[in-house]
This record gives sequence, C-alpha cells and structure tokens, in this order.
Amino acid sequence: MVVVMRTDATEADVERVCEKVREAGGEAFVSRGTVHTIIGLVGDSALFRALDLDNLPGVDRLIQVGKPYKMVARSLHPEPTTVRIGPAQVGRATFTIIAGPCAVESEEQAHAACRAAKEAGATILRGGAFKPRTSPYSFQGLGKRGLEILAECRAETGLPVVTEVVDPRDVDLVAEWADALQVGTRNMQNFELLKAVGAAAKPVLLKRGFAATIEEWLMAAEYIAQRGNSEIVLCERGIRTYETATRNTLDLAGMAVAQRESHLPVIVDPSHATGHRDLVPPMARAALAAGADGVMVDVHPNPDEALCDGPQALRPADLQALARDLRALAEVLGRSIG
Ligand code: PEP
Ligand code: MN
Repeated sequence: MVVVMRTDATEADVERVCEKVREAGGEAFVSRGTVHTIIGLVGDSALFRALDLDNLPGVDRLIQVGKPYKMVARSLHPEPTTVRIGPAQVGRATFTIIAGPCAVESEEQAHAACRAAKEAGATILRGGAFKPRTSPYSFQGLGKRGLEILAECRAETGLPVVTEVVDPRDVDLVAEWADALQVGTRNMQNFELLKAVGAAAKPVLLKRGFAATIEEWLMAAEYIAQRGNSEIVLCERGIRTYETATRNTLDLAGMAVAQRESHLPVIVDPSHATGHRDLVPPMARAALAAGADGVMVDVHPNPDEALCDGPQALRPADLQALARDLRALAEVLGRSIG
C-alpha cells in the first residue's frame, strides 16, 4: 500500500503517518518527488486500512498497489522521472548518448575513447575501472587508478562519468570519483550492493540481469529506491537465450515494458546486448525508434587491441556515423538528442 501526501503536506504530517504505521508493526519508506511525497508501506495491508490513514492531516489518498514494486511503479507516479547525472540528464525529454570504453585500460586509451565520445555528441562518459569478468584470468580493471583516469577524462571533456561498482565496500570510493554508479548485469540481484548504492548520494544506472525477468529488474530498482535513492536509470542490455549468433538477445520489448511499468528512465546498451560492432548501430537506432531514453555504447580507439570486449567496440569514426544517424532519426521522430 502507498500513501500519497498532499502537495501542501508538512514534514510533521509525513512523520505522523510513518509513526502510525510503525506503531502498527509496519515499515514506512518515504520518497520525495518534486511535486508529491509518497510513503510506501510494507506489512499487512488489512492492518494499514484499519488505521484510517486517509483521514490524517496532509494525506491525499491511499493506493493499493497490485504490483510488488511500489516506489518505482508508474501507477503511483504517472509522470516520467528525469535523472540528472552531473550536468546531463536522462529522461523522456531527450535521447541521451552515453559512450566510452568498456574498460579503462590506460590513460591514453581512455582519453582517446572519451574524446571520441564527446566529439560524437555523447553527454555522459562510461568506462569500467572495476570489471566483473567471467574469467579470473581476464583483465580485471585498473581499480582506483581507473577512477582517477576517468576523473581526468571528465576534466578534459566536461562530461560526467558513469562507472561500475562491484563490491558494496567500494561504493563510497566510487561515489567519491564518479557522477553515477553502475550496477552491472551480474550484480543486479546482489542485494547488499543494491542497498549500498541506495544509500549513496549519486544516481544509479541499473542494468538488467541477463537472466532476470522485468519484475525482478524492477524489484532490484525498488531496493535502491527504498533506501532513499530514487535517482535510478534502468538499462536493458540483453538477456540470455538459446541464440548464439549474438552475445545476448536484446529485449527491446522489455525496454518498452519497463517504461510502461515504471516512471524511471530506461536506456539500452546495444554493445553488451549484441557483442558485435556491426550490430550496434542498427540496434541503437531501433532503441531510439522504440522510444528508449538513451543508449550506452562502447567505443575504443583500437578495438583489436582492447583488453575487454573489443569485438563490440565502435571505432571513433563508427560512433560519429552512428550519432549522425541518431540525430537524423530523432528529428523525424520529433525528439532531440542531448
Ligand atoms: C559494462 O557495461 O561494462 C558491463 C560489464 O555490462 P554488463 O553488466 O551489462 O555486462
Ligand atoms: Mn563490457
């Protein structure tokens, strides 16, 4: 159940509702939007109904939620949310291009990739410093040094940085250096990590688990929102199917379902979804045409020598061409890029 407060509700009104709920043995989680404050209630709905919460001062209405997610549900928050990442934004108003290397490998490589991202018109940089790799023998990322290099790339380009955090113990460190925290596909149900990023003061880019249903994905977002961080961007990055021609199967319908079910922005990562550079532009264009809020793509100055995911990395010129195509398509669709 969810309590929607009136726009003129005071802090004391909000606290009164929370107190009543807690006295009745339930839990109350407050989410403050720009217009409405809502309070998600966890516990026995029948008990909450008996509390007559809708007659308390400041309460607009109670909503019985049919879905297990509450704070990220569109039913409670019909207006789509725009998430600010540094000076950039991700939301329905514009189509955002996030680009950068899969992994930060060296100063030179990261700067070249991030420069290419900026030149193509990306408004957010990506790049992994802590890499979750399938093999323990693969390059694991530069760790803290990678974060420092990303900060240099931000200083050079003026663009904010999103980077992955794989360990709850590193959340503070990564939040100190990055503009947004990425939770990768392998960690989508690492609940301790979700709680830790939920307590951080930076936006979170939450990738869909490669074997997660949309409901599980939204429940993972709910963990983050419930801890007080509602600045969440969802990212569809492909799911595992029987198909082997592509690295994963891009679930564009899943992107659209997530947008329908949640007020959070939803972007698409065609690089990790397909695993092949030649499939990235068509799937990025499809994402835009399907109404996604942005794309996140890998770019590398020399993909043949990449330490991570070279086959899916666009070369700088490929990214330029893709961005040009996206701008032309956006115009036809009446959307803007940036
Ligand atoms: C990444 O974006 O660097 C990454 C590892 O992606 P995913 O978690 O989707 O595999
Ligand atoms: Mn990768």
